[in-house]
Amino acid sequence: MPAPATLTVDLNALAANYRTLEAIGGVPVHPVVKADSYGLGAAACSRRLMAEGARTFFVARTGEGERLRADLGPDPAIYVLDGCLTGRAARLRAADLRPVLNAPAQLAEWRAAGGGRCGLQIDTGINRLGFRPEAAPEPFEGLELVLSHLACADDPAEPMNARQRDAFATVSARYPGALRSFANSGGVFLGADYGFDATRPGICLYGGGPEGRPDARIRPVATLTAEVLQVLEVPAGETVGYSRTFTATGPTRIATCAAGYADGVLRSYSPRGQVFVAGEMRPIVGRVSMDACAVDVTGLEVAVGDRVELFGANRMLDDAGAAAGTIGYELLSAITARVPRIYAG
Ligand SMILES: *Cc1c(COP(=O)(O)O)cnc(C)c1O
Repeated sequence: MPAPATLTVDLNALAANYRTLEAIGGVPVHPVVKADSYGLGAAACSRRLMAEGARTFFVARTGEGERLRADLGPDPAIYVLDGCLTGRAARLRAADLRPVLNAPAQLAEWRAAGGGRCGLQIDTGINRLGFRPEAAPEPFEGLELVLSHLACADDPAEPMNARQRDAFATVSARYPGALRSFANSGGVFLGADYGFDATRPGICLYGGGPEGRPDARIRPVATLTAEVLQVLEVPAGETVGYSRTFTATGPTRIATCAAGYADGVLRSYSPRGQVFVAGEMRPIVGRVSMDACAVDVTGLEVAVGDRVELFGANRMLDDAGAAAGTIGYELLSAITARVPRIYAG
């Protein structure tokens, strides 16, 4: 019996997306598996990506790196995007993690602890993390990889993309021994001149489109389904759920489904959210509550124990994100630990 709400992860689709991204980018893919592979499970996803040939991974936090090292063993390179925060060097070294150094203080901290293999982030305009190009350090021992991150890769018409690319080409030339990594998912699709030596996609591995909408080249990977807990016949004029935000205008069949905000189904799924049920798209009505949401299934044959799909092959992640006023990244990474991840493929 599957759990009331489950997240199914199609590892074959993940592998297919990995191969697609390598083919389009024309250079190796170094997968981003931060935030537990955007909620899909970093251990299972990374193992499969290793089986497909991936040898270098990126996480955000030191703790994520430690867990990934334990899961993957000693072979792959693991970069920590947070870098070397104060007092972190010993942990990084103990787990053979490579900090992506973001500031002079991080470089000093890493060196003071003995240094070793690491990366360097140059901020070419996103103004988030990294050295400004004019403040980039001299080449140094142990530097294996230099990266920068696009601010608007999901918008190919944005002129800043080319400015960042050109700035990165200039500054990265100062580090001839280091691998150059520039493109995230969206960047992979911007053209061969964005690929440099290796790309760094996340969301497109996990089934999101490069421009925040479904893309035929990317296969859906994650499917969130919930069981129907009860089917109600609500008379005209009655309301459904907290705060009476939905009123039945006629006799209405409501399926109460086992997916609420404690599962990561954002409250903002209502009022525009939809689910795929019995072969149709149907609206989520009323407020999403902690453990349940209500779906209008009037006219459909729906029974207790049936499952509805919140996103997956029939309700694309990016469309679900747009309906919830957010992006696929947030929908995936919001799925809580209560929802078992089930791996297929
Ligand atoms: C999260 C992240 C990525 C991956 O971005 P996607 O848009 O998911 O492909 C790449 N690089 C850095 C620095 C990141 O923080």
